[in-house]
Amino acid sequence: MQKICIKRFFECLIPVTVCNLKCSYCYVIQRDYRNMKLCELKYSPEYIGKCLTQKRLGGPCFFSICGAGETLAQPEVVDIAHELLKNGHIVNITTNGTLTNRFKEFENFLPEELERLHFSFSFHYLELKRLNLIETFFENVKFIKKIGSSMLVQLNLCDDYLPYLDEIKKICKENIGAYPQIAATRKESYGLKKVQLYTDMSEEEYVSKGREFESELFEYTMQNFNVKRKEFCYAGERSGTLDLDTGALRKCYGDTKPQMIFENPTEPIKFEAIGKYCRSSFCFNSSHFMSLGVIDNGDCRTYCGLRDRPEAGWFNETVKYALSRKLSETNGPYSIINKCKINIKQFYIKSTYKIWCYLNKIKKIILER
Ligand code: SF4
Repeated sequence: MQKICIKRFFECLIPVTVCNLKCSYCYVIQRDYRNMKLCELKYSPEYIGKCLTQKRLGGPCFFSICGAGETLAQPEVVDIAHELLKNGHIVNITTNGTLTNRFKEFENFLPEELERLHFSFSFHYLELKRLNLIETFFENVKFIKKIGSSMLVQLNLCDDYLPYLDEIKKICKENIGAYPQIAATRKESYGLKKVQLYTDMSEEEYVSKGREFESELFEYTMQNFNVKRKEFCYAGERSGTLDLDTGALRKCYGDTKPQMIFENPTEPIKFEAIGKYCRSSFCFNSSHFMSLGVIDNGDCRTYCGLRDRPEAGWFNETVKYALSRKLSETNGPYSIINKCKINIKQFYIKSTYKIWCYLNKIKKIILER
């Protein structure tokens, strides 16, 4: 077991939109972004590895890689993960669990690298059933356990699955020793102040269906759903969102001034918190960012605690150790003066951006006349 205390968390996007499944609730399909294209990455995996060393990032970090389609459809993902693992980081890959040949490529990694690798398997039950891929899915999950990596299985709760909930519980118990964790599914809509759940049920009914799975992940997500965060948030200091194609590093979603950290691998990265002025209507990915500790709010629930099924041993000891802690352990709090300075700066940035958007709207209306 490796005892790693992670310094920072990076939510990484690979803009691949290819996917062999077609789930009704997929946010890419809902938004009509799916053009089934692989991404022509601007930088090689080796170069990306050079840009993301522990020295440059301040210590071992946690990278979570997700595509806008099936993450593992992009061939370079395996090599990118390998470069990050060689650098001593912990890596999560979110996958639909069906591309068997791609999983086999991980077999060549060193045991100490595999120990720091985690997979989040999304269980798209109806699509797997339609394409006769259920067995393949569970074989791949078991393969990942066999090579020493860590894993979780999660189900996006939506109305399509309601007639199958008992079937899903049974098949998961039989194959992976526990129920899947539950992810709340969002309706992708624009212009609404409150985000809606992807369901025709009331929120109470939806919650009660989700609770059948005794999922900590679901409880946590629902508790933070549509809750606007007003506390001081250390996103930007303790975490970031990173585009693995361009190297654009944002403090969090909606940050309009990214740093292009792949342009010069020797240039220091500026880490600075976003503070009180979070741009999002609520913390969309709270089960990642907040559970890892971007906000010091005394909530002791952890990334691992929300996802592991200890009775089934989904997480290995190395990943469990690293993801059962908060980022405040490796990043002390800012002084009050520093917090005030950041809040003033972020307020100014947010206000000028709002004014800019407003003026652009007026300009558009005038030009359309
Ligand atoms: S509260 Fe969540 S969405 Fe807002 S800045 Fe922090 S991490 Fe990002």
